[in-house]
Amino acid sequence: MHKFFVNSENINYSNNKILIEGEDVNHITKVLRLRSKDRILICDGKGNEHVCTIESFNKKEVLCTIEEKFQNKTEPDIKISLFQALPKSQKMDLIVQKSVEIGVCNIYTVITKRVVADIGSKDISNKIERWRRISMEAAKQSNRGMIPMVIEPIDFKRAVEELKKMDIAFVPYENEKSIGFKNVLHQKNNIKNVGIFIGPEGGFEEEEIKLCIENGIHPVTLGPRILRTETAGFVASTIVLYELSDMGGSK
Ligand code: SAH
Repeated sequence: MHKFFVNSENINYSNNKILIEGEDVNHITKVLRLRSKDRILICDGKGNEHVCTIESFNKKEVLCTIEEKFQNKTEPDIKISLFQALPKSQKMDLIVQKSVEIGVCNIYTVITKRVVADIGSKDISNKIERWRRISMEAAKQSNRGMIPMVIEPIDFKRAVEELKKMDIAFVPYENEKSIGFKNVLHQKNNIKNVGIFIGPEGGFEEEEIKLCIENGIHPVTLGPRILRTETAGFVASTIVLYELSDMGGSK
């Protein structure tokens, strides 16, 4: 079933109707060619899912009737925030898409010392818009219960401040040879928010790692092979969801 996200204000439980507006209208009526009585899944991005039938539509809106309401079951109980040092070219497109599929909740873009990506202001606002669109498409496709946020570039210091707010935070570092996620994750109970900080193509400077450590961010290995920056975040977030949440089968 095709999935769409709407704001809570578009859901009217007193008459069981949901109104879809904006770009999805064209997608539903022109691209997918859905018609009255066709069924779609509508999510409010806050954990409420609705199986609906299309009632009527025009160029501006699609009106749907709620057939069944249920709680979303696809969101992990661990919220991962990925702090990704901005990579070159189009790599961030892939990082956003795959991170959303895997189950990451927030994607922060970070400017670290060795970031070489071009971040001219006009360029970057277009890119952020594009990444947000990719996040939404991936969220629909992978049946997420929310659309993960993509946050505009922050500097290293801000990233560390944000990482400190997490229950636990990691900085995968290729020079850390022995301590891994497994060793650190199980030393603490009641972890809900996990931060993961991934370096750019050229990696982190030693000074940056030192600052991370001083702020309680754990350097960890992802194994003896060097992963590309776009691979490292996928692997790290998968490990966290495998160890603590819903990727390793039933608990
Ligand atoms: N500086 C290195 C590799 C950078 S890889 C070089 O140029 O050879 C980009 C980022 O991916 C790193 O900053 C780190 O966060 C992560 N990463 C890649 N491979 C890793 C590994 N084996 N262990 C831990 N982190 C890794």
